[in-house]
This record gives sequence, C-alpha cells and structure tokens, in this order.
Amino acid sequence: MTNDVIIHDVVVVGAGLAGTWAAMTAAENGVKDVAILSKIHPLRSHSGAAQGGIAAVLNNVRPVAGTGPRGPLEQIPPGEDPVDSFDLHMFDTIKGSDWLGDQDAIEILVKDAPDVVVQYEHMGCVFSRTPDGRIAQRRFGGHSAPRANFSADRTGLVLLHTIHEQALYHNVKFYSEWYVMDLIIEDNIARGVVAINVLTGKIQMIRAKAVMFGTGGYGQAYKVTSNAYANTGDGVAMAYDAGAPLMDMEFVQFHPTGLYRHGFLMTEACRGEGGYLINKDGDRFMSKYAPEKMELAPRDLVSRSEQTEINEGRGVMEDGQGLFLDMRHLGREKIMERLPEVRDLAIAFAHVDAIDEPVPIQPTAHYSMGGIPTTADGEVLANAKGDLVTGFFAAGEVACVSVHGANRLGTNSLLEASVFGRRAGHAIADFVKGGAKLYPVTSDPVKRNHQQVQQLFDNDGPELVEDIVQELKTTMTNKAGIYRNEEDLKSALDTIHRLQQRFKNIRVMDKSSRFNTNLSMTLEAKHLLTFSEVIVQGALNRTESRGAHSRTDHPKRDDESWLKHTMAHKGEDGRPQLSYKDVTLYWDRFPPQERKY
Ligand SMILES: Cc1cc2nc3c(=O)[nH]c(=O)nc-3n(C[C@H](O)[C@H](O)[C@H](O)COP(=O)(O)OP(=O)(O)OC[C@H]3O[C@@H](n4cnc5c(N)ncnc54)[C@H](O)[C@@H]3O)c2cc1C
Repeated sequence: MTNDVIIHDVVVVGAGLAGTWAAMTAAENGVKDVAILSKIHPLRSHSGAAQGGIAAVLNNVRPVAGTGPRGPLEQIPPGEDPVDSFDLHMFDTIKGSDWLGDQDAIEILVKDAPDVVVQYEHMGCVFSRTPDGRIAQRRFGGHSAPRANFSADRTGLVLLHTIHEQALYHNVKFYSEWYVMDLIIEDNIARGVVAINVLTGKIQMIRAKAVMFGTGGYGQAYKVTSNAYANTGDGVAMAYDAGAPLMDMEFVQFHPTGLYRHGFLMTEACRGEGGYLINKDGDRFMSKYAPEKMELAPRDLVSRSEQTEINEGRGVMEDGQGLFLDMRHLGREKIMERLPEVRDLAIAFAHVDAIDEPVPIQPTAHYSMGGIPTTADGEVLANAKGDLVTGFFAAGEVACVSVHGANRLGTNSLLEASVFGRRAGHAIADFVKGGAKLYPVTSDPVKRNHQQVQQLFDNDGPELVEDIVQELKTTMTNKAGIYRNEEDLKSALDTIHRLQQRFKNIRVMDKSSRFNTNLSMTLEAKHLLTFSEVIVQGALNRTESRGAHSRTDHPKRDDESWLKHTMAHKGEDGRPQLSYKDVTLYWDRFPPQERKY
C-alpha cells in the first residue's frame, strides 16, 4: 500500500455550518482528534452566502393588529400572548414539504431550533435586534408567523464566522483547500477518505474511526443558479459511488428571485420585508396564483407562477425571460438597514438601484432537497429497511433526513444544518467514545485514485470539461427544471448517458500539480454527471407532481402511489436502481391535505 496516510479519530468533509457544528460538538464532548477538510477556504463555504435568516419560534415580534398579513411588525410586550408555536412551525414545514417530509424529523428540527439560536447568541453571534434588544424576526415565504431570525441580509456570514471561531477554540484541525475525491467504505464500514492537497497536488489517504459529510448542495448542475461554484454535489456522488443510497434527488428547489441572467440571490427577505413581484403589465401577478399569501407563498409555487408568466408572454427584458422585484415602496431607510447587501449586488451586476428602480429577476436553481439519507442523529442509512453504514455520518444540505420533503421553506436550511450538524456531533462523540475502532483499509485507494488522475492526464481525447458541463447544465435546466414531462426527461437521460461516454475522452489541459483547478473541475464534472442521472431517473419514475417536482403530464399529487421517498443505489451496471421508503407521518396530527396558499 502507498505510504501516504494521515490518521484522525474523526474526519469531517465540509466546513460549512453542518460540518463545523458536528466537528465542534464532537470536540466539545471529549473527542480529542477531530479534523475538517474543505476544498475551499472554510469561511468561503456556501453557508456564508446565506442572507435571509434562520427559523426558530422565539415569539419576539408579532404583526401589528388590524394591518393584515403583509402589515408592519412590532415587538411583543413582555407578558403578552405569543403568536407562534412549535405546532405552527411544524405544520408550515410539513405543508411546505407537500407532506413528503418525515414528521418525526421535522418535530426535532422545530423543537431544537430555539436552543440552537440561543447557543449562537451565547457564542457571540451578532443578530439584528428589536428596539428592546431581543433578536429581531421577519416574515418568510410559507411561514405563517414571523420567525426568521436574522442579521440584516448577511445571516449566514455571521453564523459561519461564529461557529468557525468556536471550532478553532476547541482545537479542531482544519485542512483548507484539500479536495476529497473518494470515500472509503469496505464491508459497509466507513474507514476514511482520499484527498488531494490542492496546494501540492499530493494524493493522501485520511483514515478515521468516523467519517462525516457536510459537503453541501448540488445546484451547479443547472445553468442559472444561486449556488457557489463549489456546490457541485461531490458528497452525494462519492457516497453513491461508494455504495450508499441517495434519497429524493429529483426534488430540486428553484428560488423565485435570482438576479436576471446571473442567478445570484436576491433574498426572499426582499419579499419578507414587503417587496412585490410584477410582470410587464405592472400587475402583481401572484394574486392569481396564491391570493392569500401572494409573494410570500412557498418557493415552488412562486417559481412556477413566474415561469407561467414568462411562458405566456408577460415577462420583462429583451428576451421576456425576466420579471421585476419591486422594493421602491419600502423606502431608502429600510432597504439600507435591512437589505444593504442585495442592494449592492443589484447595483454591481444589474446596474439597478433597488431604492429607485425595480430589479430584474428570474427563477434560479437554489437548493437540493435530496441527498444522503440519515437518521435524526446523522447516521447514514444503508437501505430503505433502516440498516446503517457503520461510522458514516452526514448532515446539512448533502443529507436528506428528511425535513424539507418535496420543497423546503426559506430559513429552515440554516436551521437544519445547525440542528442536525450539532446532533451528528453528539452522535459521533458517543460513537467514538463508545469504543469505535480504526478499521484497516484492505484495498489500495490511494493507488486507485492516483491511477484515475494519471489516466486523465494521459488522455489526449478531443473533449473539454467546459463543453461537457455546459451541455449538462443546459439539458438539466431545459429538461429537468421547473416544469418536467416524460419526453423531456427521457431525452435528458439520453444526453447524460452520451456525456458520460464523452467524458472518457476528456483532455485535461493543465498537467501540473500545484493548484490544478483544471483537474478539480474535471473531477467535479464527473460528480455532476453521476448525480444528475439520479435526479432525472427519479423524476422520470415519479409520475405525479409534488412540491418542486412538477410534471405537466401528471399535474396532480398522487398520495396513493407516491407518498413515499425515492431511494437510489448504484446498480451493478452502473445505472441507478430505485426503491422506495415510507414517509413518517403523524396521521392523527398532520394528515395529508390539499396544499393551497
Ligand atoms: C445564496 C444563498 C442564500 C441562502 N440563504 C439562506 C437563508 O437565508 N436561510 C436558510 O435557511 N438557508 C439559506 N440558504 C441555504 C443554506 O445556506 C445552505 O443550505 C446551508 O448553508 C448548507 O450548509 P452546509 O454546511 O450543508 O454546506 P455548505 O455551507 O455549502 O458547505 C459545504 C462544504 O463542503 C466542502 N466540500 C464540498 N465538496 C468537497 C470536497 N470534494 N472536498 C472537500 N471539501 C468539500 C466545501 O468546501 C464547504 O466547506 C441559502 C443558500 C444560498 C446558495
């Protein structure tokens, strides 16, 4: 075996909120040797780009009486009745999920939420405040009470800096700019990972008693996305290649307000603070689609409404592919206090000042509801029966626990990454302190990965990674996007199979070892092709419309046949093998209902 081995008790892949919470909590609870690997600088993880807020029932504010569902908010005077409750947060999340979320996991998410936010507060996190100094709260889509706790429009940034600092304080070791390319599972036991040190190009094995993935989402499979370049779904692809299943991958969220053409996010807080959506005729078109919630209906519904407006010729901009987000009536003071970052973003990239003009927007691929299936303690499931992969944990956007089901509500995902990252940290501490072994690695994964890289360097075929990725993104956007149908999905699957063949003839132009981004982009492209096939296969099989999965040829939700999670394993022929898993419902409390807003 090649002699490039690093050993830790715990190796966490991913330095966003989920990975850092897990590492920090394991270290805080007595595990001495915890390491985090991140392919980018830890503080550049996508969690830091989150803008709008983190949900928790705190009952700090309420709507001013008699001002209606979009009226102003005020702090709740001490001693007066609360407006929000755990049951309400649960119901909103379940309804948002179109009843595909597991209700036991949702209960944990909601009940752990206030404690997680208070822990952030105690760690020194700078939240925006109510006049009397409590944490400020705002409205968000699909939530029927103001429960988004925030720090202006840079919430993720302050949360990530806070937890990162705590991880350093607890002596977590960071490997910054290490690209993990392989997960080692032998006999259903996770034994470590293989990574490239991006600075030197050296390939090394990192062995551990427990491996945890907090590798984030997979929005980069789409052409227009709010996601960072790093969100290439490496974690889901590596887990799948190593034999673990993926769950509900067909559910991809499109956010209604990406900056037109760029996809950068204009946070939902723009609408939470009172912004309007208007079409080319100046109409607030949401009155047709969600008369009660209007712009604050859940994202799947608003994005579909926008796409319908665009398809029917009421879009704006020269190609008719945009709509307007109008915040002018909010006034300069509110925009400068609550939404300064998005104002800057629109000025820099669209040359539009939201104080004076409406901002052109369009739907943008935003969030991955699917991922690696886990228990509520972050343990990875090996199959639909509930067996576990020993020593393998996952949390955050890479995981599917499943609290978001078919559609996530805004602000529930910073919450998910924090709650389930922390729970995974506790479970890892128990696992390691309970006598977990450092299992030997019997194969030679370093050699295997060396060979894979060498093969890419030796290849002098005609294909370039950029061309393959662009064709994949266009295909996924046009054929597996907001609206889907059988013909398009079949054609997307064909294209993906062809692209997988073409990938074999790829030419990596840069053969050097230091900071070879051409090589890492190529490895990422392979991952994109791997999980996109699972998205499309799941979407093709699911002959219904639920949450973010909208089939024009099967427009109704079909609980009889499809109230179940999709599980995908990599089959012997390399193609996804689908099976299905029951959804956990509290039939007496939250039975399935028609979803109207
Ligand atoms: C623009 C934007 C705004 C958002 N706003 C909100 C919001 O207001 N509220 C909300 O609740 N949610 C929001 N979300 C969603 C939320 O931010 C994410 O779901 C959440 O932060 C994901 O956290 P994570 O820890 O799972 O992953 P991430 O923060 O994405 O971190 C992933 C980590 O994995 C590492 N990694 C990945 N692959 C590899 C590899 N191969 N090798 C080594 N390291 C690897 C990366 O380096 C990174 O450190 C927003 C998302 C976006 C894109």
